[in-house]
Amino acid sequence: MIVVMRRDAKEQDIEHMIEQVQSLGLKPHVLRGTERTVIAAIGDERAAASVGVLESGPGVDEVLPVLAPYKLASVETKSEKTVIRVGSLTIGNGRLGVIAGPCSVESEEQIVSTARAIKASGATALRGGAFKPRTSPYSFQGLKEKGLQMLAIAREETGLAVVTEVVAAEDIELVAEYADVLQIGARNMQNYRLLEAVGRSPCPVLLKRGPSATVDELLLAAEYILDGGNQQVMLCERGIRTFEAHTRFTLPLATVPYLQGKTHLPIVVDPSHGTGHTPLVPAMCRAAIAAGADGLILEVHPNPEKALSDGYQSLTFAQFEETMKGCRRVADAMDVKI
Ligand code: PEP
Ligand code: MN
Repeated sequence: MIVVMRRDAKEQDIEHMIEQVQSLGLKPHVLRGTERTVIAAIGDERAAASVGVLESGPGVDEVLPVLAPYKLASVETKSEKTVIRVGSLTIGNGRLGVIAGPCSVESEEQIVSTARAIKASGATALRGGAFKPRTSPYSFQGLKEKGLQMLAIAREETGLAVVTEVVAAEDIELVAEYADVLQIGARNMQNYRLLEAVGRSPCPVLLKRGPSATVDELLLAAEYILDGGNQQVMLCERGIRTFEAHTRFTLPLATVPYLQGKTHLPIVVDPSHGTGHTPLVPAMCRAAIAAGADGLILEVHPNPEKALSDGYQSLTFAQFEETMKGCRRVADAMDVKI
């Protein structure tokens, strides 16, 4: 349930209500909006004969149940959209983030030249995997710390914020030393210990949907991170597994308006993994923006034919430039800024 404080509630009222929530065996999460403060009381609400105790507290406007199974991610708890700002990347509430770069970091030259090219075309952050979760153990696994160092060089050269994947809890500290955003990949969406661990990190998180996870499962996965204390979470639709074979995955864009109605967290779309085919990527970028996405994450490579991973879905620099032109036209129509 949530305790909605009155606009004129004093700091000591808020402190008092935090203690009250704790005394009922519930965990308080304080969400300070521009208008008013809300205290989410999370836990076993059977203890919630307690509503009366909370309602009569000083500075309390009302106590409301949260019906959704995900509590902190729900618009019922926080109606104000979450905006994530980290370095060059601002995403959410009318600001569209474009995160672009290779699937994997392969060399300093590759990542720095890509960073320069995507920045010149208007990207707002750089992606690149240093720890790669590959389907086969014999595929390229990423350059690991060396790859992270190359990403840091690319950031220094261009000022672009770095988004990179972390695949294991024991790597979080290392990856967070170099990354501006920690990516949790599709394969790890339900790795709950990893979600709890990034929940304890101060670094924003991009959480990708598992290929066979429902949207509610995605929201509950985000809930693990939020409940851990990290409020800076973006959700990413990257396609799901269906019987359809003409694309690598099926990219369900109805997810975007659905999620916009259910959560305050920014929604990112990944048309590269979502389609698995370069020629389909530009149109799906435009469609994602038209559907109301807050951001895109795209694979771009200096020479896709030679890429060590996912070349078949990567854009060349020239294709990215063209894609951005189309994105800007749709963004203008949708009244969002890149
Ligand atoms: C990636 O972004 O390169 C990646 C591995 O994506 P996903 O986790 O969505 O498969
Ligand atoms: Mn990839």
